[in-house]
Amino acid sequence: MFSKILIANRGEIAVRIIKTCRRMGVGTVAVYSEADALSLAVEMADEAVAIGPSPAGQSYLVADKIIEACRQTGAEAIHPGFGFLSENADFAKLCGSAGIVFIGPNPHAIEAMGDKIASKKFAAAAGVSIVPGHIGEIDDVAHAIGIAEEIGYPVMIKASAGGGGKGIRVAHGRRDVEEGFPAVRAEAAGAFGDDRIFIEKFIENPRHIEIQVLGDKHGHVVHLFERECSIQRRNQKVIEEAPSPLLDADARSAMGGQAVALAKAVDYDSAGTVEFVAGQDKSFYFLEMNTRLQVEHPVTELITGIDLVEQMIRVAAGEPLAFGQSDLTIDGWAIECRIYAEDPYRGFLPSIGRLRRYQPPKEADQGAYAVRNDTGVREGDEISVFYDPMIAKLCAWSGDRAGAVAGMARALEDFHIEGLNHNTPFLAAVMDQPRFASGVLSTRYIADEFPDGFHGLAPTPAQLDLITAAAAFMHRVVAGRARRLGANGDGPARADWVVVLGKTRRNVRLSAAGDDLEIELADEGRTLVLDAVDWRPGVPVFRGRLDGQPFSATVRAAPEGFVVRHRAASLRTLVLTPASADLHQRLPERKAADTSCQVVSPMPGLVISMDVVAGQEVQEGQALCVVEAMKMQNIVRAERHGVIATVAAKAGDSVSADDVLAEFA
Ligand code: ADP
Ligand code: ADP
Ligand code: MG
Repeated sequence: MFSKILIANRGEIAVRIIKTCRRMGVGTVAVYSEADALSLAVEMADEAVAIGPSPAGQSYLVADKIIEACRQTGAEAIHPGFGFLSENADFAKLCGSAGIVFIGPNPHAIEAMGDKIASKKFAAAAGVSIVPGHIGEIDDVAHAIGIAEEIGYPVMIKASAGGGGKGIRVAHGRRDVEEGFPAVRAEAAGAFGDDRIFIEKFIENPRHIEIQVLGDKHGHVVHLFERECSIQRRNQKVIEEAPSPLLDADARSAMGGQAVALAKAVDYDSAGTVEFVAGQDKSFYFLEMNTRLQVEHPVTELITGIDLVEQMIRVAAGEPLAFGQSDLTIDGWAIECRIYAEDPYRGFLPSIGRLRRYQPPKEADQGAYAVRNDTGVREGDEISVFYDPMIAKLCAWSGDRAGAVAGMARALEDFHIEGLNHNTPFLAAVMDQPRFASGVLSTRYIADEFPDGFHGLAPTPAQLDLITAAAAFMHRVVAGRARRLGANGDGPARADWVVVLGKTRRNVRLSAAGDDLEIELADEGRTLVLDAVDWRPGVPVFRGRLDGQPFSATVRAAPEGFVVRHRAASLRTLVLTPASADLHQRLPERKAADTSCQVVSPMPGLVISMDVVAGQEVQEGQALCVVEAMKMQNIVRAERHGVIATVAAKAGDSVSADDVLAEFA
């Protein structure tokens, strides 16, 4: 076994690998860019080496710097994690010639599978079912149209070197190919430095199901069953689970068998993933093989009890696999949610910044379910513009799928983040959707279920009760303080109140019994019992139990009451005496300030260009300026026709979300 391993990565995956090394008694070396000098991974590693400026191209992607860090520290092996150099065959070779073990497959396997065209050829030869299409490079638009028409629309135009959902376009007809082919080619050249394109049939409404394989250097290959990753946005995974609700034992062994056959065909000797698209009828077709640890590997670990990082390290050190296919079984169900720094309410725009509050749920067995949270950040850390905006990977495990879904919903409630926007309300919405519970998934799920974007979900009756109870409790605490501070002294608390929840009004009668608060719903003949409350004024998290069920909600003080969010439901609450409730009802609704003249930045970022000047007339939809964040350029367009009165930002300016960029006359 190695005595010291260098981790050529950052963030949660570096932390994940360090944890396993520690358990195995193997020393660890972290490498870090300027932005990561104070990161959790650096803190946890036994040693750390600085490798340069923040942009990955000048640090994490520079092979020579990584090799040099090994020399400096005497690390015998490198774990590349995912992304960065993990699927770079030249880097694997370079390690070999420097006498360092690359903890991943042999370079020949990376080369054969790293390229989508080459891997399809291998797969076809190994008897794997592949997506019908043209297994070869496409020369130009005319060639592309010829091939597309031969395959039959719709088709997918793909970059052979693609990854991360980039370099992919669907074409439904000739015009889409004319437009899409050059676009994919340009994107591929820019993102991967490789503009080879191929075309395959677009499988409509498919599911994404992948098989985890594991091989050693002695010719053994097993599979660790499947993961379903159908919940995607823009071809990128958001929620993954294992096993798949679609597969039965026969389909599982057919898919597993093909994945193992493909792995054997390339002498695969590490952990890897064979991705398929599957029809709702369980037909399936090979997409690509990822020759590395996969982002969503924790769900497989949770249902098999096998530590994939440990296995990668052991097989890289030459150990034979200690188990065969028949030793592996599926235990329970696991779901992973990718928690991203993005604003789900605003088209999932990136939202970078400092984690003013970062309180993940406890990683523990909660009885009905267990929680695992893979993260590389702590409270106070920054999610920077330089890297992937993932904050954490939250996993819930339970004996069955319904238990895992319920556990995930609870774990998401208990995940508190402030300082930037994040997608936990969106993830909670999916967990609460009957369609997700039914397991009828597809890669179109998000597009189908949220056709107009995400705007939260309407509260269920149970959520209305919970928000009513929390509002009543908070009001009582705040009013109690005011009473004690006021002239009336510590007089008796009033019992009858009206809780206003958005447009709903509820008459409640409150009575405190010890630490419990009883909330009698006067018009419904029911009483809610709230206890075990953990909340103080100023604290943005409200924990308690309603009728014995634990819950957690986010609270924010609003001008008159509180805004309470439970999962995907958010309500403005107000607790009034019956007399002021009557008055309140007659007040005209306060109008929001007129901001229709303002053009504001949709997110924090850097102004790349300002394309209009004061006095200029613009048409609806016209590009006004470009704001970049997280390597994504966002064009801010005019929402109406008009004349620009003032321009408030210029190229090079850093702007926050909602900063005014320009104003209409
Ligand atoms: P997959 O599930 O096939 O791994 P992903 O969408 O998770 O696909 O990742 C796509 C690419 O982006 C992969 O090359 C992966 O290694 C990389 N990647 C994804 N998330 C991260 C991250 N948090 N840090 C570094 N690289 C990442
Ligand atoms: P990447 O390397 O970016 O992960 P993939 O080939 O794995 O690229 O495709 C990413 C996603 O795009 C898949 O998970 C799937 O949702 C969708 N996709 C890819 N190819 C097809 C296809 N032929 N038909 C339908 N969907 C596809
Ligand atoms: Mg893929």
